[in-house]
Amino acid sequence: MTYQNYSLKQLQAIDARHHLHPFTDHKELRDAGSRMIVRADGPYVYDSEGNQLLDGMAGLWCVAVGYGRKELAEVAYDQMLELPYYNSFFKCSTPTPVLLAQKLAELAPKSVNQVFFGSSGSESNDTALRLVRHFWALEGKPEKNIVISRRDAYHGSTVAGVSLGGMKHMHGQLGGAIPNIVHVMPPYAFELAEPGESDEAFGLRAAKAVEDAIIEAGPENVAAFIGEPVMGAGGVKIPPKIYWTEIQRICRKHDVLLMLDEVITGYGRTGEWFAAQTYGIEPDTITTAKALTSGYLPLSALLVGDRIAATLVDKGGEFYHGYTYSGHPVACAVGLKNLEIIEREGLVGRVRDDTGPYFEQQLKERISGHPLVGETRAIGLMGAIEIVRDKATRERFKPAGSAAVVIRDHAIANGLMLRATGDTMILSPPLIWTRETIDLACDRILKALDLALVDLQ
Ligand code: PLP
Repeated sequence: MTYQNYSLKQLQAIDARHHLHPFTDHKELRDAGSRMIVRADGPYVYDSEGNQLLDGMAGLWCVAVGYGRKELAEVAYDQMLELPYYNSFFKCSTPTPVLLAQKLAELAPKSVNQVFFGSSGSESNDTALRLVRHFWALEGKPEKNIVISRRDAYHGSTVAGVSLGGMKHMHGQLGGAIPNIVHVMPPYAFELAEPGESDEAFGLRAAKAVEDAIIEAGPENVAAFIGEPVMGAGGVKIPPKIYWTEIQRICRKHDVLLMLDEVITGYGRTGEWFAAQTYGIEPDTITTAKALTSGYLPLSALLVGDRIAATLVDKGGEFYHGYTYSGHPVACAVGLKNLEIIEREGLVGRVRDDTGPYFEQQLKERISGHPLVGETRAIGLMGAIEIVRDKATRERFKPAGSAAVVIRDHAIANGLMLRATGDTMILSPPLIWTRETIDLACDRILKALDLALVDLQ
């Protein structure tokens, strides 16, 4: 690799000079230099200084099968030699997206049988927004085009992704969101439940906020509700059990489509192939990406329910929409092989029956009692640790997010890649984590919390 001819300092200087990073303060990057990750293996990544880090975030929620899978490299190599690219526009097709679409239809909830491919979660949500509005136009109801979403939702970084999302700081830089998207309260009991309010009562109240928004807008004007089954980037906000069945009931009652964004939760993270199955619901669209290829190549798949697909096919004509890389043959070959690995190794069942429950229990038993921790929560292999200044009152440190960054930096310095979002530490490790890996992660989290406690006093 040619980068080995450069020193870390040289690479950092070039990085700062030429490379604009996503979600990065560019001045800070220039002053501090980037952390250069140069290789990875299994659950570990290694930086240019030779430090080994247990990757608590599976890259960015994506490397489900872990790093260093030769099979994925081989299948990409073979496909590149046979057919590196051809498009799927204008009635053309190539074999791997066809077979991957068939596989996804087999794994998805039973009313979901069609797939539209893209290269990223953001693109896929863009497609989903266009598709639901197009659906209602084809149904002769073009005025039914409002989409209800939640505050703190993350649906990507394109204009449509940010507009659908509910991140205040991102909207602040947007210069105008796509119209007719309304945001309601998230199902975030840790901050929003009333004292003494039961989990179920809170879940019903959070779902009612969606119904209130539908009624206020007029159901005849509302196309869809969109949500991440578990809000990821917003802080692994796990809704009360009743929330999603209630949302589905409300959507059906008002003939509003249900769009799930499973870019994080898709392909096993919550212990089922899709969180729709964990929560027992049948959405009209499911946005997926990330773990579809375990991040080895960019690929997204929008899974489209039968109702929308039937209208699109029967009443549609041409849908003027598509990406050059829709159904990319190499990405789809990697996707197929990746799903084969997940199936062969039984990773979904392992998360559901073993590592998921163990992860939740260990966070509770070992971490939640720490003086800096207000709550731990987890579902499957997705977890959160709420950081507080005062356990009893849940008062936070000021400025917001400052303590979490201290903890994150200690975690990284002690061999665990952990992420901070606001005042919440989040974990979303590769699905190959074992009980031993979970134990090791908890050791390192505790060490980071103890070191931060000293710093923050
Ligand atoms: N939706 C959710 C729930 C996500 O978490 C993300 C990315 O983290 C996206 C959409 C956007 O995906 P991408 O970064 O591939 O565009």
